[in-house]
Amino acid sequence: MSARETHAFQTEVNQLLKLMIHALYSNKEIFLRELVSNASDALDKLRFQSVSNDSLSEGEDELAISLSFDKDKRTVTISDNGIGMTRDEVIANIGTIANSGTKKFLESLSGDQAKDSHLIGQFGVGFYSSFIVADEVELVTRKAGEDKANGCKWISKGEGEFTLEQVEKETKGTSITLHLKEDMDEFLDQYRLKNIITTYSDHINFPIKMQKTEWDEEAKENKTLDEMEQVNKATAIWTQAKSELSDEDYKNFYQTISHDFGEPLAHMHNKVEGTLEYTSLLYLPKQPPFDLYDRDRRYGLKLYVKRVFIMDDAEHLMPTYLRFVRGVIDSADLPLNVSREILQSNKVVDKIRSASVKRVLDHLAKMAKADDQEDFNTFWDNFGQVLKEGVVEDFANKDKIAKLLRFTSTHEESTKEQRQSLDSYVSRMQEDQEAIYYIVADTLAAAKGSPHLEMFRKKGIEVLLLSDRIDEWLVSHLNEFDGKPLKSITSADLKEFDDEAEQDVSEEEKKAREALTEKVKKVLEEQVSDVRITHRLTDSPACVVSAEGDMSAHMARMMEQMGQ
Ligand code: ADP
Ligand code: MG
Repeated sequence: MSARETHAFQTEVNQLLKLMIHALYSNKEIFLRELVSNASDALDKLRFQSVSNDSLSEGEDELAISLSFDKDKRTVTISDNGIGMTRDEVIANIGTIANSGTKKFLESLSGDQAKDSHLIGQFGVGFYSSFIVADEVELVTRKAGEDKANGCKWISKGEGEFTLEQVEKETKGTSITLHLKEDMDEFLDQYRLKNIITTYSDHINFPIKMQKTEWDEEAKENKTLDEMEQVNKATAIWTQAKSELSDEDYKNFYQTISHDFGEPLAHMHNKVEGTLEYTSLLYLPKQPPFDLYDRDRRYGLKLYVKRVFIMDDAEHLMPTYLRFVRGVIDSADLPLNVSREILQSNKVVDKIRSASVKRVLDHLAKMAKADDQEDFNTFWDNFGQVLKEGVVEDFANKDKIAKLLRFTSTHEESTKEQRQSLDSYVSRMQEDQEAIYYIVADTLAAAKGSPHLEMFRKKGIEVLLLSDRIDEWLVSHLNEFDGKPLKSITSADLKEFDDEAEQDVSEEEKKAREALTEKVKKVLEEQVSDVRITHRLTDSPACVVSAEGDMSAHMARMMEQMGQ
């Protein structure tokens, strides 16, 4: 056996550890959920890889997680017979922060405990949450298929460094022993541990086994998984009938897969049979994750093939603008050895994807129609801006998405909330009104204060007040709704109003106006392309408009800001 070597944690890991221990103290039992979730991932990986390499199972038939504790030593141990890690993998996965999400997460911490603990919950605290309850963590692991002599032992007190040592390990997989801190005796209790498992990990897809009673050292040596008690349901919840499942079941499963402490806003559970066979269980969260606006973030769908976990972040199953959807899709028609490359151009996947998108959009439409708009409003306030991306991204569903959009408008000008749909706008349109009118500005206040609104106010024509960052982009792709064009009130192309006023102007008046515009044109020669008399203003003497086909004023300002 080789000597023990000492390594230093990455600086970010130290930071993360401190913050986490601090922020999550009141939620400390989640360490178990995180370790169980890692064990479950490791079992998923093993099962997936054994499909093409039988020897990896090393003759062990049952894949399971086991949990035990020792009152004398004051330890809690979680073991799995999953894929395990090589020495290099231990170094890469534990002790360093590999994925960029973690760094972003650290950057987004505010120092406000309540807020940050919410962030941490969504982020998935992972392995380091062990240090909330332990002052020393020992991890022993061996990669499946590796020589027994090539096990690796990792020990750390969570204070800047860890040691590594090569050890022999009989069985594949990982075993993690937590040496509990002084005040953590509550976890040396059968009932308490079991309770945490049923609360957080009931629907983990593998059995979680526990010692039936406290064992002495000798008994522990001789116990096998068979003699332990299974404490979770270990059912793939999505394979069960809806009628067998309670809201509580759905909520627990949501929390297991989403790392969100909160409740889901809605779930959609469907079994599809016939030429294409698959089951989907999709969730809409109530609260947005901290990295919602990061379009490259991991996706929230898990892909299974006949209950075997294939991959996370199945972006091929959900478009970017629905990246907040969480859940599981289990297909019977994909090969078990499916890869990302295969997914990319697979007819089955395409069909599942478009059906899932339809399901989500239809569900949102249903929420929007409900008597009680509360759920849809919650959805819109948290995810509406992301959904708007769909108008640009998903041509096939553009109309459906457009119906879900909500805006502030001059109809209920006193509210900041975006509650007006395009349908409701259309229902209020005046008889001879030709278009749906909007104004885009940097802020809602700027939109409301725009001189362009004067004539519309006077005529009693409703105008949508747009001020989200994405709105300019949105309206450049949404040219019409319900057969009516969308028009910016700052554009020059509003002839419908000019002609009407033109009728009762005398010849003399016209001449005087021409002389005036000529004069102004000369003065502003360099700055503008045209000068015109308008009837659109009532209180303000003049305003700038954009020419047809030109960038709108707001877009021009945005480009300027970006240094274009
Ligand atoms: P995450 O699970 O979100 O990746 P964690 O901090 O929970 O983050 O785990 C970090 C990594 O350590 C995992 O991605 C995995 O590669 C590795 N790991 C943790 N626990 C185990 C385990 N029981 N078996 C195998 N690998 C593990
Ligand atoms: Mg994890």
